Amino acid sequence: MSPFEYAPAPESRAVVDIASSYGLFIGGEFVEATGGTPFKTVNPATEEVLAEVSEATDDDVDTAVRAARTAYTRVWSRMSGADRGKYLFRIARILQERAREFAVLETLDNGKPIKEARDVDLPLAAAHFFYHAGWADKLDHASLGPDPRPLGVVGQVIPWNFPLLMLSWKIAPALACGNTVVLKPAETTPLTALLFADVCRQADLPPGVVNIVTGAGATGQAIVDHPGIDKLAFTGSTAVGKMIARSIAGTRKKATLELGGKAANIIFDDAPIDQAVEGIVNGIFFNQGHVCCAGSRILVQENIAEELDHRLKRRLATLRVGDPMDKNTDVGAINSRKQLERIEEMVAVGEAEGAERWDSGCDLPTNGFWFRPTVFSGVSQTHRIAQEEIFGPVVSVLTFRTPAEAVAKANNTPYGLSAGIWTEKGSRILWMADQLRAGVVWANTFNKFDPSSPFGGYKESGYGREGGRHGLEAYVTTGGRG
Ligand code: NAP
Ligand code: MG
Repeated sequence: MSPFEYAPAPESRAVVDIASSYGLFIGGEFVEATGGTPFKTVNPATEEVLAEVSEATDDDVDTAVRAARTAYTRVWSRMSGADRGKYLFRIARILQERAREFAVLETLDNGKPIKEARDVDLPLAAAHFFYHAGWADKLDHASLGPDPRPLGVVGQVIPWNFPLLMLSWKIAPALACGNTVVLKPAETTPLTALLFADVCRQADLPPGVVNIVTGAGATGQAIVDHPGIDKLAFTGSTAVGKMIARSIAGTRKKATLELGGKAANIIFDDAPIDQAVEGIVNGIFFNQGHVCCAGSRILVQENIAEELDHRLKRRLATLRVGDPMDKNTDVGAINSRKQLERIEEMVAVGEAEGAERWDSGCDLPTNGFWFRPTVFSGVSQTHRIAQEEIFGPVVSVLTFRTPAEAVAKANNTPYGLSAGIWTEKGSRILWMADQLRAGVVWANTFNKFDPSSPFGGYKESGYGREGGRHGLEAYVTTGGRG
């Protein structure tokens, strides 16, 4: 134990006001669901019930889509880009003003450390609205093609790992381009989306431009299947993404799918090794490893593998795992019991396959869902822990000898969302980036995001890009009016 222990530094939860139950946000108002079974959302760090949330039925989804259609035809698609931009700027500013409230609520509902909600999720969510506010009146100059116009009503379904940030990635470009939205947050993390409904009202956003319906998979499916939806934007697992692609095949609906990943974080022997260790920590232990583009496979050059192993484990032993509301916490709670079971199952598979398991041995709280930072070494390409997404604080270490071998191994998964390269050599970075089949390649850094940079996958990581000028393409149609 270190001689210098950290004193507790808990963030106050007094800044948030959580209602005991929530309705659905449709047409600018909270309304009761027409049936459905209400469900509870819990704080995964304590298992405390935070609120009861409505399950939107097919009828509720229909009402939401109609509200979005009315707002689209009567108001939003007729408004000038400059005026739409004013609303987006307003939303961005309100998110900044209420950042602390949102960060605390996100941490309570999701389990992520408050320092991440505060320093990553919230600034990036506001930045997405600022960035897209700037595009709203400049779409004619974005090289999208002649006369870019909105698509209509967009259905959006998002996961639980970055609830408000994923909402921002979805809603900001849709609105900037003149579309209206029906969005479903994940079952385990609905609260910041419901608080965002309040931001829409505070910003005087015309009713029906943004509609938030809560529920689980069936509600998501009702959005996917609704004939009044013009475009779908989905972020989640590859399995559900494939089902969605099948459901909409043969319809006129457009879709972007942001799915899973199994990113390689590639460490060459000339890399600054302590920086690379920090990059590995950021790559896989940020947000408990619940990150689609997490660097979940370390590929390390063989001659430094032992040294890296030693330095990495020494560093992981210093990570503070525990109360997400403590400002010193590095790794928070696993989002749900279901996800914890999935991680435990995959770790058992790794051990059964013969990989060597190590964990940091830290103490864990008694209530809630927790998993220690874990490293598997002696992993080979055929192991399931080298191929399948674990979506938790678990990293697999593989080795390579040459750049060509690193590329071959990095590309040898069904996914292609992101990758990282650590080396001093610029020419090698460029050569590797060109060979890697990954939507995002980071060099001497990892998990860096910016609204101006497009994000998306190759292969089973999905299709379409979000963010940047490229992200706008998914929300407009161009050319002759049909
Ligand atoms: P998931 O099970 O696919 O869920 C994603 C969303 O889809 C949730 O809102 C979920 O509802 C909903 N859903 C479930 N079944 C559905 C159906 N049949 N039709 C329509 N919607 C349905 O994924 P998850 O486990 O929550 O999230 C983790 C996955 O997301 C990981 O694989 C991760 O890699 C991926 N992810 C990708 C990105 C990216 O940008 N590429 C970003 C973040 C996460 P409920 O949760 O309420 O049941
Ligand atoms: Mg929750």
